[in-house]
Amino acid sequence: MRDMSTRKESPAEQLATPVQFLQGVGPRRAELLERLGLHTARDVLFFFPRDYQDLTDLRPVDQLEEGKLQSVRGTVEEIELRDIGVGRSLLGVLVRAHGGHLRAIWFNQPFMQKRFFVGQNVMLSGKPKLNGLVWEMAHPRVETLADEKEEPPGRILPVYPATEGLQQWQLRRIVRSALEQYADLLDEVFPAEYLEGHQLWPLRRALPEIHFPSDPDSLEQARRRFVYQELLVLQLALAVKRQQQQTRAKSPRLEATAKIDARIFRLFPFELTSGQRRAIGEIAADMASPVPMSRLLQGDVGSGKTVVAVYAMLLAVAHGYQAVLMAPTEVLARQHSLTLEKLLAASHVRRAQLTGGMSAKDRRELLEKITAGELDVVVGTHAVIQEDVEFGRLGLVVIDEQHKFGVRQRAALRHAGPDPHYLVMTATPIPRTVTLTLFGDLDVSTIRDSPPGRQKVNTYLTPESDREKWWEFFRKKLREGRQGYVVTPLVDESDQLNVASLEETYESLANGCLEDFRLGLIHGRMRPEEKDAVMDDFRRGQIQVLVCTSVVEVGVDVANATLMTIESGERFGLAQLHQLRGRISRGGFPGFCAVFADPQTDESQKRLDAFVSTTDGFRLAETDFALRGPGELLGTRQHGLPPFRIADLARDAALLDEARRDAQQLVTADPGLASPDHQRLRRMVLIRYGEALDLGDVG
Ligand code: ADP
Ligand code: MG
Repeated sequence: MRDMSTRKESPAEQLATPVQFLQGVGPRRAELLERLGLHTARDVLFFFPRDYQDLTDLRPVDQLEEGKLQSVRGTVEEIELRDIGVGRSLLGVLVRAHGGHLRAIWFNQPFMQKRFFVGQNVMLSGKPKLNGLVWEMAHPRVETLADEKEEPPGRILPVYPATEGLQQWQLRRIVRSALEQYADLLDEVFPAEYLEGHQLWPLRRALPEIHFPSDPDSLEQARRRFVYQELLVLQLALAVKRQQQQTRAKSPRLEATAKIDARIFRLFPFELTSGQRRAIGEIAADMASPVPMSRLLQGDVGSGKTVVAVYAMLLAVAHGYQAVLMAPTEVLARQHSLTLEKLLAASHVRRAQLTGGMSAKDRRELLEKITAGELDVVVGTHAVIQEDVEFGRLGLVVIDEQHKFGVRQRAALRHAGPDPHYLVMTATPIPRTVTLTLFGDLDVSTIRDSPPGRQKVNTYLTPESDREKWWEFFRKKLREGRQGYVVTPLVDESDQLNVASLEETYESLANGCLEDFRLGLIHGRMRPEEKDAVMDDFRRGQIQVLVCTSVVEVGVDVANATLMTIESGERFGLAQLHQLRGRISRGGFPGFCAVFADPQTDESQKRLDAFVSTTDGFRLAETDFALRGPGELLGTRQHGLPPFRIADLARDAALLDEARRDAQQLVTADPGLASPDHQRLRRMVLIRYGEALDLGDVG
């Protein structure tokens, strides 16, 4: 309850006023606001618009121009939904406005009908077209207004993240009155000289403008201030984290002497690429220092990250330490074991794989050996390793396909003795802006080249009418001795129905267009031993075609497999598609990949177009990033960091660099952010990232 005594509340207390007591809000609306994460007056002040509606081009109907983005305000007079063929519909909404009538139309979106009623005041924004004598807007943006006089033309209006039951105009009113009543109570975060030096608008000037901009330039300035602040706070958190890692933890010095180096290189059956050598150099330099390594190794599918990891592991072993290699799936863990088996056959390195399917007794024995330090190299899935392994003398942790794991999980291995070095690997190339934020506490090594002799993969977005032609080609290549994959999406591996549909696909291929060939089936619901058996058969060529889900997505390496059919391609993400295709670019034969797809959205079409247009994973990552934003790309929440409120990495790359530089300077000058000038920043860092990044009590 609010304090009803006569004592005057402090600014902080006033800003903590529950939303229920704000002007224009009662218990019912308060509930809706809570649903948006708004609990106090302060929350409302910092409830940033997700977009703006530019009414600077609000026009009477008789002054509209064709093809230009404009807005019209008026009253709904008629709503009509018509069938125009099988499964097709046309919704028309007639609006009376200044200077005439305008018809808004929607194809195949009958549900839009629910949003209108006769007499409703609306604003429509879109590109109008004259159809006979009537102006029409196809699929305009719609907004309900309180009444016709509500917003004067010539304004830029905020559009807030919405929730059912709250209209934009209601949110605007609530924010506007909160600004009037509470904005003056806020304290500035930055000292005045800092604002000036960095050309940032003060909070009091920026806040009203971010909600109700007077013009595009003011909006830009206001936005700049808040984006900078948000990025700075994150970069400060990351800089502090880094500093803590460097001063607190002590890791073993594992130097790559010339002798060790030569001994390791002798085990590799090929010359390393220059990218691989550079990465090894960077890793070896890290591991020679007592500051624990935190390095991200990124390289496109097939660029040869595994040997780089093997080098690092052997470096640890050479110094008498253990190394562990964690993979996201059993299939991949098994493959890493086989790779190590091959490379280390002639060495004395003691190695083992820990799997989910082991008997309790075998497992216990293995765990004891690991704790006693009697095993040098351990491979397993993240889940299995983390569950109950305790290492006796752990020197290095390698995590493959990091994009599947979260930030927090990185450090959670149990071990005796000093802290291990960390190497994480990903084949999903990550745009620089993202490595600087989500992975900002990591150093990055990038392999840009690939081993010699790689053949290119030809990719086709195949129309349904060419299906038979494709299978003919597929069979021809199989007869020449190649192998292939048929990949179908599986939304949820735990779903029995989905598994059934995969089995159906398998049956229909086995009894249909691939009946002359040996087929195998693999999916996530199978037991580990079953999966191993199928993969082994595929590796040995016993199975010619593997019908599978995205189980094969990461890391699987079978050089003779050069064919891939992807079904329902629209259901895969771009990174996933690229990963899949990476399976067939491994050996000395060119790869062929056909995607069958039924894209329903523009974005999905663009994704598929991008996929066939290039095999450069870094370019695809940038495209994906532009199409979907970083959160989607990497699953921000998975990574344990709270999502941005206003910053947009695709758009704010320059500010990110600035914030990063400034954060480094600040932390170098004032390591614990202890000076009185930095107290507010320090608090913001702790509130927002203290827990996610495990910052403890900074300083
Ligand atoms: P990824 O980076 O996708 O994890 P891998 O480490 O699985 O790639 O390597 C892909 C394939 O390339 C493996 O069969 C590996 O043995 C081979 N390879 C790696 N480096 C080289 C090299 N320098 N020369 C020739 N083949 C290589
Ligand atoms: Mg790999």
